[in-house]
This record gives sequence, structure tokens and C-alpha cells, in this order.
Amino acid sequence: MKVFKFGGASVNSAAAVRNMASIVRSHLSNEPLVVVVSAMGKTTNLLERIVVDDDQALCKQLVDYHLHIVRELMPDDTEAEQQIATMIAQHLAGTTDRVGEDYAFRYDQVVSLGELVSSTIVARFLNQIGIECEWLDARQLVFTDQHYREGRVDWERTRQAVNERLTQGAQSPKVYLTQGFIGGTPDGHTTTLGREGSDYSAAILAHCLNAESVTIWKDVPGFLNADPKFFAHTVKIDHIPYNEAIELAYYGASVIHPKTVKPLQNKGIPLYVRSFVEPTAVGSAIGDFDSISPETPLYIFRRRQILLSILPRDFSFIAEDNLQHIFEALSEVGVRVNLMQNSALSFSICVDDNPQLIPSLVERLGKLFRVRYNAGLQLITVRYYTSDVIENIVDGRRILLEQRSRLTAQIVVEEGEAQS
Ligand code: ASP
Ligand code: MG
Repeated sequence: MKVFKFGGASVNSAAAVRNMASIVRSHLSNEPLVVVVSAMGKTTNLLERIVVDDDQALCKQLVDYHLHIVRELMPDDTEAEQQIATMIAQHLAGTTDRVGEDYAFRYDQVVSLGELVSSTIVARFLNQIGIECEWLDARQLVFTDQHYREGRVDWERTRQAVNERLTQGAQSPKVYLTQGFIGGTPDGHTTTLGREGSDYSAAILAHCLNAESVTIWKDVPGFLNADPKFFAHTVKIDHIPYNEAIELAYYGASVIHPKTVKPLQNKGIPLYVRSFVEPTAVGSAIGDFDSISPETPLYIFRRRQILLSILPRDFSFIAEDNLQHIFEALSEVGVRVNLMQNSALSFSICVDDNPQLIPSLVERLGKLFRVRYNAGLQLITVRYYTSDVIENIVDGRRILLEQRSRLTAQIVVEEGEAQS
């Protein structure tokens, strides 16, 4: 079986859903196609706001957006609108009013609505246009532990559920359609897999099914050497080895969710990134390749970075016991280090400037160390760099930290104008 994943941008309007359906239709074969969909457009962001403030205006915006798509998509289907309106109302009534409960738990119960609605609309539409489609609840396929907002997959249980529900045979539908991003605990609560986690969902299903391939349909022509939002001239990479893709996702390449590649690599399943705007174009393939091709510098930008320099208060050096305290604080507060460097007298880390976490990290570290920090920075990673490329990208800005290995250069600079 093949697995297709359609992200938010590919289902953000009635026209987009029609386009997505035509891609699905053109790939139907005598075995079922597994389709994973994200929430429509920016719905997840909207739901995140509703978790903290279930303001009526926000809820109305959510309902209006989806009903508008339903109306345009299925104008003759009088029940569709009612179904979706009821679904949203019931879900919100059952989940937003649980203020006493843990935030992460509540977050998952509320935010999962985006994928549930989106998949319900798409399934109904596919069936109406004659693409026989079975809607599956991902909460009963992808089982996780109770780590809300970052559910960890129970592979054994998931494999069993997936293989029980998605069968191949005379009775199978043309399409199995399910939600990305969400999963469930064995005791019936909803979990999510982390923002942008739908790619990971597709990889989980593919892994469990020993699928032939996974295709992620995006609004870009494939895996590009830089984010086209910030870079005027991008190059499409045709072939990327699994390990290279894992490294790039780790450095912050936003094309694929970082956890996506490993489950596929373990089974040798190729991952294709293709354009839903130009569905016949070839795209990029991540798989069992020796090297990337074409070999060209790859740029990854992490914005809103902050550089913390941690210095001992006494006359000690930065030695193992100090490092241990620093890492304990990082792990307890839950801050991920994007780059680190030490000298005899200080230890520097570059981290995302997260206003929820950084103040408590600084406070904790401040009990033991002197902490200095620089905000308003950018971390640039360049794979396959040359000196010219670095000079160009730094563009005269002040460099606060720099590390180069044979293939990768990482530089922390002041945020400046967008590059091109
Ligand atoms: N809808 C979720 C998000 O926006 C998951 C995804 O799109 O992959 O993060
Ligand atoms: Mg997305």
C-alpha cells in the first residue's frame, strides 16, 4: 500500500480539497490508498487560541470557516453542514470547559478537533464524487502513552491496530482516510504528536503496514535547499539519503517533521515530497541514496534565537560538575539546545527564544551561575558550505558564535534583513 499525506495548505479551501481529491483519484489502483490529512489551513493555530480562551468569536470563526468550505464543496448535500456544525459544537462543549485540568491534556482534547473535522469533510466529499473511502479514527490506530502534546508511540499496539483495521482484499475500500497529528491512549483519551506531526503519522502508518512508499504533498516543488519564504533562489534536491534528511530536520529544516524519517529508514520505505500545485512534477525522494544530488549548499535558518553565556560565580572553570547542573536545568525546564560551545570560563548555548521557558531557565541557572544573554539572533546552518557562501549569508553582520565541521557550518548572527 502507499501512504499519502496532505497538509493544511492542501485542504485550506473547497478548491484545494477538489485538487487534493483529483490527485487521489489519479493514483487509485487495485490496492487501497492510505490518506492522512491535517487540519484545514491555519485551524490548529486558531484552536490553540481557543484552548486558552474559548471566546465565542474565535469559536464562531472556526465554525464559519469550515461551513463555508462544506457549502462550496457539497452545495447539494443538505446534511453535510449540519453534521459538521454539530460535530464542532459537541466537541468544543465537551472539551473547552475543563479548566481545572492539566493544560497539556486539555490542549490535546481541544486541538485534535482540527484533524477530526478536516478528515470528516474530506471523507464525505470523496464518497460523494465516487471515490469509495473509509474514515478511520486515528485515536484507535496510533496508540501513545499519556505524554500529552508529545505522545510517544506504543509501536506494538499501533502495529496490531493498524494491521487489523487497514486490510487489503475484496472488501477493502479504495481509500482509507485518517487524521494526522493525533493519537490515543489505551484508556481512550486523545493525544497529539507535536506540531506539524502529520508527517510523522504518515510514517507511523507506513512503518506498521510495510508500505511501499510515503508521499507528502506540499505547496513547494520538493525538498529545497532553503526556505523559499526567505530565499529568492532555491534549488530542488532530487535525492536525499535518510541520514542526511534526519540531520537537516534536526537542524531545523521545516520541510519534514524530524521524527518522520527514522520509522521509514528502518523499513527502507522511500519518502517522496511532491507539489500539489504541480502534481505531475517529480519532486524529491528521501531514501537509500549514497549522497545528496545535486550537491549544493543547504541553508537552514532558525530565527528568534537567544544566546546564553553561563559563567561560574566563583573562580572555578566550567568543568563536569558545572556542566551537569546546566544540563539538569535544561532538561527540567524543557529547553532544547540548538548549538553549544564551551571555553574554560564560560559555556554558551543558543536556544529558541521561548518566552514561556527562557525566564525560568535563566532564573534556575542564576542561582548557581552568572548568566548573560543576547537576544534577537539568528542561527544559520549551512551544509556543504564554502567560505564565499558563509561570507554572503553573514553579510557583514556581527557573528556571536561560529562552529565549523567538515560539512556543516553553524553561525549565530544578529537578525538582519531577510536574505536572498
Ligand atoms: N495540524 C497540525 C499542525 O498544524 C499538524 C500538521 O499540520 O502536521 O501542527
Ligand atoms: Mg502542516
